[in-house]
Amino acid sequence: MPKSEEKYQFKAEINQLLDILVHSLYTNREIFLRELVSNASDALDKARVAASQQDDSSSLLAPEIRITLDKEKKLLTVTDSGIGMTRDELIRNLGTIAHSGTADFLRQAAESKESLDGLIGRFGVGFYSVYMVAKEVVVRSRSIQKDAPALEWRSDGQGAYEIRALDEDLPHGVSVEVHLKDDLSRDFAEPDAVKDIVKRHSNFISFPIFVGEERVNTVSALWREPKFNVKKEQYAEFYTFLTHDSEAPFETLHVTVDAPVQFASLMFVPKKEWDVFGMNRENWGLDLYVRRVLIKHQDKDLLPQYLSFVKGVVDTEDLPLNISRETLQENLVLKKIASTLTKQVLSHLEKVAIDDGARYNEFWAEHAKVFKLGYSDYANREKFAALTRFNSSIHEDATGLTSLDEYISRVKEGQKQVFYAFGPSREAVRLNPHLEIFRRKGLEVLYLYEPIDEFVMDSIRSHKEFEIKAAEHVQPADLEAYPDLEEAKTDKPEAMNEEDTRDFDGLLTQMKAILGDRVTEVKTSKRLSDSPCCLVNPDGHTTSSMDKIMRVITKDASIPKKVLEVNPDHALLRNLLAVYKKNPQDEFLGLSTEQLFESALLLEGYLNDPHALVGRIQDLLTRAGGWYVEREGK
Ligand code: ADP
Repeated sequence: MPKSEEKYQFKAEINQLLDILVHSLYTNREIFLRELVSNASDALDKARVAASQQDDSSSLLAPEIRITLDKEKKLLTVTDSGIGMTRDELIRNLGTIAHSGTADFLRQAAESKESLDGLIGRFGVGFYSVYMVAKEVVVRSRSIQKDAPALEWRSDGQGAYEIRALDEDLPHGVSVEVHLKDDLSRDFAEPDAVKDIVKRHSNFISFPIFVGEERVNTVSALWREPKFNVKKEQYAEFYTFLTHDSEAPFETLHVTVDAPVQFASLMFVPKKEWDVFGMNRENWGLDLYVRRVLIKHQDKDLLPQYLSFVKGVVDTEDLPLNISRETLQENLVLKKIASTLTKQVLSHLEKVAIDDGARYNEFWAEHAKVFKLGYSDYANREKFAALTRFNSSIHEDATGLTSLDEYISRVKEGQKQVFYAFGPSREAVRLNPHLEIFRRKGLEVLYLYEPIDEFVMDSIRSHKEFEIKAAEHVQPADLEAYPDLEEAKTDKPEAMNEEDTRDFDGLLTQMKAILGDRVTEVKTSKRLSDSPCCLVNPDGHTTSSMDKIMRVITKDASIPKKVLEVNPDHALLRNLLAVYKKNPQDEFLGLSTEQLFESALLLEGYLNDPHALVGRIQDLLTRAGGWYVEREGK
């Protein structure tokens, strides 16, 4: 071993990764070239930025990527005139996990049932993918830094690598020499085959790529082309280049704006939400170009987070090329671009919704989770509100969706509100006693199933002069204008006579005495038709589900005090009245009142300890069983 040569071990995760790559039967191995070319392109970007910061571009070589092939030697080499790497950087970047997606790749490879093939294709897995085709790789590098030495890194991908200083000098940049596995030279050392691969995966790289002497990539800056010049396939091709998504985009937006700022943008809405596990939250943002030069990858200030499912690029003439990445965030031009882009995306979605509601619902099903975060975008509240969708009482099942505008088109005469109710499922919402009065009067109620939906409703507040209102905050008196539906009028028991009414008041007083200060009041309800009782918020501000969220946040485990409303027409209450009339102190009243109260708590999700409730149910069942046997003479 020459004196300057040193041997290093790969970090454990890299060995794990290499092991997966070398042994996978992945058929689409050609993506290794996409990864090498994309690394070269990044390095060229970095070289330009470094030179512009030092105000010294005199020694900068022309930016280009060259691929040379030697069939005899089974050799493919990718050379760039980019930023290069120092010894430390070689160790850090090619010996430890640098590629941000690699850790995710390994995690998903271990956890998910998705085939390795799909994962390799989607993640790319960076430099190391070269070992799918190489038996040895030699990287020669000289950093653009002043007086940096020329170095050679070499490894067969079997646990270790070596670095040595070279005697000869090198231009700044990197060359990656790929010694192909024996059976692969036909695929990756033939000029025509390699040109095809470059065209397929790297056509949109903004630096020239040569295979031999021929420049291969022809299309750059598709977004700068006039729309009528661009074919649908070209958009799709660019989308694949940008995202590696195997499916075509759901929507494509090609936008050119001249005022108040000049920019062109090409944006896509993917068919599928990728980050279903929420593990890759930072992987979003549009690529920002200034005059066709990439300034920032995944800029997160160009679109708000709730539109983070949008992929694409923005290119402006109104920023200086040497703008530093740090000051970008504060930049006014950028802010104007961002607000224009946001409006463009929202208008586009609006158009999709108008043109084809069912298609818009497909979008909603995929991206609503992220999109709903838009409740905090006050500047675009109206547009956002019009784009939300909810399940409703008019639907057959939980898959139906309606917009606020559709709801409004169906309101009853004089109705100035949009009503909603929250619950973990359609079944749960339908059991909510607060909604009985709405059903009785045929008033539509939107059903909300996710906690964020309530924040959405809270911040929308009103839509086209219709107040958005939680059903549980509605006072029955406010609904008096709407008559009960004919079919709801049946099955009512006879009205109480004067004496009964007086005794019923007595019963309520007795029930309040039994419950003490666990409730603020026990009173007759006008909202119930099927349930014997329900709990109502005395303040009427937060909904019970919102209140629950707040209690989790503030770690408050106490049970809130509410009003217990009872249904005087319910058989259960009429029975209690009969018992009360015979003996106001009957212990059955205590048992039943406790039971009613705790069942209501249970429905509202506040019952912390169900033991007493269960004990009482068993007690009541035992007695009921006894009475049943007696009555039926069994
Ligand atoms: P990624 O490119 O996603 O970061 P890679 O495994 O492909 O992951 O590369 C790891 C790192 O090695 C890169 O981030 C970069 O710093 C460095 N690198 C790779 N190729 C080059 C190159 N051609 N020139 C300069 N640096 C490079």
